Amino acid sequence: MKRPYNFAAGPSTLAIDVLQEIEHELYDYQGTGMSIMEMTHRSKAFMQLCDDTKALFRKLYSIPENYEILFLQGGATMQFSCIPLNLANKKKCDYIITGNFSKKAAQEANKFAEVHIAYDAKENNYSSIPTQDELDLSSDAEYVHICSNNTIYGTQWKSYPNTNSIPLIADMSSDILSRKIDVSKFGLIYAGAQKNLGIAGLTIVIIRKDLLQDTENDVPVLLQYKTYADNDSMYNTPPCFSIYVFFKVLSWIEKQGGLDVIEKRNEEKAKLLYDVLDSSDFYIPHAQKEARSLMNVTFNCPSVELNEKFVEEAKNEGLLNIKGHRAVGGLRASIYNAMEVEGVEKLANFMKNFAERNRK
Ligand SMILES: *Cc1c(COP(=O)(O)O)cnc(C)c1O
Repeated sequence: MKRPYNFAAGPSTLAIDVLQEIEHELYDYQGTGMSIMEMTHRSKAFMQLCDDTKALFRKLYSIPENYEILFLQGGATMQFSCIPLNLANKKKCDYIITGNFSKKAAQEANKFAEVHIAYDAKENNYSSIPTQDELDLSSDAEYVHICSNNTIYGTQWKSYPNTNSIPLIADMSSDILSRKIDVSKFGLIYAGAQKNLGIAGLTIVIIRKDLLQDTENDVPVLLQYKTYADNDSMYNTPPCFSIYVFFKVLSWIEKQGGLDVIEKRNEEKAKLLYDVLDSSDFYIPHAQKEARSLMNVTFNCPSVELNEKFVEEAKNEGLLNIKGHRAVGGLRASIYNAMEVEGVEKLANFMKNFAERNRK
């Protein structure tokens, strides 16, 4: 069976090798006689899987020992509440707004903390990433929050802001494990798993240990990071199957040759599409050149009708889910780690061909 190429923003495509391994183990996980879905999370086999998952993630992403890895549920969106509740309860925190998720994060934080907006890219419809001197950072904030890759608008931070000693917090839902980063520059990193790490249901938090403090008593127990850290992320039932898939994705990355290979491949894939946009007077790219995302490529045809035609014809070619997010419209190709180079080549060729046929 030839599968179509799925450019969805999330949940998104998984590597075929990962799917096949899951299929292979579905009825009998490593000789236990049962599926991982049927197994108690207190079993030896599952606890081992959790330990192996954390260890492999730590290795592949070079996560220093003074950081804790936590497995939560509730998506990246639940972190919009957890972060202010744990780290800035009724105190000051800075938010840099470069898209709709960072905006939502700031709005939620505003319920529990004193939010200062250090920058907002709304003036240019979120097509840019600020430079250091454009930021109005507070000297007394508990943390500075950014979104490393703006899934909807297709922009991405190339180098992270300097916050001096104030902890930098990043929503990396759509570019975690897509490139090498220096984790020690961050106080906390979080991501929903359904874009680059596997499937929905699991949220990863990487937190510097000194930030794991006791919270006020009125913070719900499942929203406190300490609950997860003190109980090995097993205070209650964790999202077992999603953790299992995360391990399969990590093993796949390791087999590919690790993040060096993945990062290079991601750069090559994005270049294929941006080269088409740059050599064309037909397409209108959304993101400014220096802010372009390697994960979500956003663009428009000259008219709404042509956008619709593009989506329809691409679908007939086995290129699925190129429609932009409802908040911005237009077109978007999400090319996370698991999207094959062949899929992106096919899309690039289709784009050239479509422009030729529909030029005035
Ligand atoms: C998808 C996404 C979210 C929302 O994630 P949920 O898991 O649906 O809560 C938040 N931030 C970014 C950057 C995203 O890409």
